[in-house]
Amino acid sequence: MSWPRILEVEVFCAELPYKEAFTIALGTSVKSWNIVVRVVTEDGAEGWGEGSPSLIVLGETRGMATACARSLAERLVEAEELSLEHLYEMCASAASPSAAAAVEEAVLDAWARGAGLSMAKLLGGPYRRSIETDVTIGIMKPEEQAARAVKYVEEGFRILKLKLGTDPEEDVERVRAVRDAVGEGIRIRVDANQGWSVEEAIRVIDRIACYEVEYVEQPVRWDDLEGLARVRRESPIPIAVDETVKRAEDVFRVAGREAADIVNIKVMKSGGLLGALRVAHASEAAGLSNMIGCMGEGRLGITGAVCLAASARNIVYYDLDSDILLAEDYATGGSRVEGGQRYLPEGPGLGVDVDRAKLRRLAVIKSA
Ligand SMILES: [Mg+2]
Repeated sequence: MSWPRILEVEVFCAELPYKEAFTIALGTSVKSWNIVVRVVTEDGAEGWGEGSPSLIVLGETRGMATACARSLAERLVEAEELSLEHLYEMCASAASPSAAAAVEEAVLDAWARGAGLSMAKLLGGPYRRSIETDVTIGIMKPEEQAARAVKYVEEGFRILKLKLGTDPEEDVERVRAVRDAVGEGIRIRVDANQGWSVEEAIRVIDRIACYEVEYVEQPVRWDDLEGLARVRRESPIPIAVDETVKRAEDVFRVAGREAADIVNIKVMKSGGLLGALRVAHASEAAGLSNMIGCMGEGRLGITGAVCLAASARNIVYYDLDSDILLAEDYATGGSRVEGGQRYLPEGPGLGVDVDRAKLRRLAVIKSA
C-alpha cells in the first residue's frame, strides 16, 4: 500500500511580527516572513506546513523560497508514487531548505491525518511526552537582559538562552547580571552567533564559567572548524555548533575535528523533519548530543519541531520558542506551552488549526 497521492498544493508567503525587535550578533529583526503550504491528498486529507527562511544563514530570499516551494508543489502533484524516502529525496536537494521544510511538513501532516496517526508516531516516536524549552533573550544592555530574565522566570521558564557576541566585556557582564538576578536553579545557556574571534571566545568563556553556563553555542565563525576545535580544547563549558552544521554530512566534519560537543538541529537548515532526523542519527553515531532550535517559525512549524524533539532519543536540549516571541500567528492548537513545558499535540497529524482569513491578511505572496 503506498501513501496517498497529492492532488492540490497551495503556497503562501506571510509576515509575522515579533512582539519586539529581536537582536542577535548577526543583526536585528522585527518580523519573520514564512512560507506556508497547504496540501490535499487523494483521500481528501488536508495538511499544513510552515518554513521560516533565513537570508544570512541559508542564503534564502523571499522570491527564491517561494519559487522553490512552487516548484516542489508541481513535482509533488506530478509524482505517481511517493514514500517518506521519496519525499526526503525531493526536499533534500531543494534550493531553499526552509521552503522544502514547509512542503514536507504539509505532506507529512496530511498523510498522518489521513492514517489517523500523530506526527510523533509517524516520525518514529514518541520517545518522550513533553519537553522543556528555554526562552531566548536577545541582545540588550546587561541590566535589561537581567530584568527580562526575571520576568521569564516569573512566567515559569527555568531555562534561559542569552544572545551574546557583540562586545566581549559586555557579554561577560550580561551573563553575570542575569545569574545574579535569577540565582541558582535556573539553567543558563548562551549563543554568540559567530560573534567572537577565537581569542575572544576563549577569554569570555573562561570568565563566564563561574556562572554555571550549560553550553556555549557557535562562539566563532561557522566555517572555522580549527578555531572551534581550539575553543573547545580550552573551554571548561561544552561547545555547541549551530550555523556550522546544516545537514547530516556536516556532523562528520565537526566530529572528525573534535570541534564541538553538541549539534544544534534546525528543521529549516536540514530541509525538513526527515532531514533533521538524519542529523540526529548522524550525531548519535558520531557520539555528539543534539539540541534542537528554530528560526522564526510560528505555532505550525514549531509543532513539527516539538514532535521531532519528542521522538528522537539523542535530542536532549530544547530551544523551541519562536512562536512565543511572535505578536500574531495564523495558527492555533498544536504544541501547547506552559511556562517552559511544551506538550505533544492532541489528535492526528500536527493538530494545528490554520485561520485562513488571518493567513490571507498576513500573506504577502499567495499562489494557488
Ligand atoms: Mg544559534
